[in-house]
Amino acid sequence: MDGTTNNADTRMGTMATIKCGWCGTSGHASEMGPGIRPAYRAGLPYHLPTIQSAFTCDNCDRLVIGSYFGIEYPGFSTDEVIGPDDIEEFWRRNPPTKWSPEYVQGQQYADVPEHIASAAGEAHKNASVGSNMSAILMARTVLEATAKDKDVTSGSLYQKIDALAEKELIRRSTQSAAHVIRDFGNDMAHGDISKLVDPEDAEALLTLMDLVLHEIYQMTATTDALKAKFAARKKPEDRQN
Ligand SMILES: [Zn+2]
Repeated sequence: MDGTTNNADTRMGTMATIKCGWCGTSGHASEMGPGIRPAYRAGLPYHLPTIQSAFTCDNCDRLVIGSYFGIEYPGFSTDEVIGPDDIEEFWRRNPPTKWSPEYVQGQQYADVPEHIASAAGEAHKNASVGSNMSAILMARTVLEATAKDKDVTSGSLYQKIDALAEKELIRRSTQSAAHVIRDFGNDMAHGDISKLVDPEDAEALLTLMDLVLHEIYQMTATTDALKAKFAARKKPEDRQN
């Protein structure tokens, strides 16, 4: 032994497939300790009979909780106490149906300034866990931050969106997309939230938000990169043609 503690020393035999909520890697998690069956209490969230164990992600070594919810445990009787000797076999037969923390889909934005990309990614994360009002409010924030980044700082968001179009940073169709995000976002910002937001509407608004970012940042960056490549292909004497 070299004196360092290796997680492999404490890992038990069972491995389960995971998309890790910490590092986002798809791989394996190894069970750390005995399964725990919390007392069944109807009415609590996740009130189904549960078996849970601590696992560590084989990629990042962080701790994740694997849970199995079910009325039946294939291969085991529900009356049976699943003790330390049986838990490995239990996980082999019944892999966890839920991991905590759960992997949440974000979004990658190339060429978008980091603070705006991070807010836009957060909007997608919100939507992916059903926080639709937060997602829409964040999409509105992304528009405000984008206008600010392009030195459009005066007036209401309505005027800022129109100014982005006047500066030809967005097309007419993208301008109306931005106004739809603003309309929904304003309801959230001003407390008009008595009507629930459909998850489909939130997803569609985020698609529009991505379109605005694509047009303002990504399209310009790709065009500039290709222009530079094209210029490099040309010999100096060809440049006039
Ligand atoms: Zn991980």
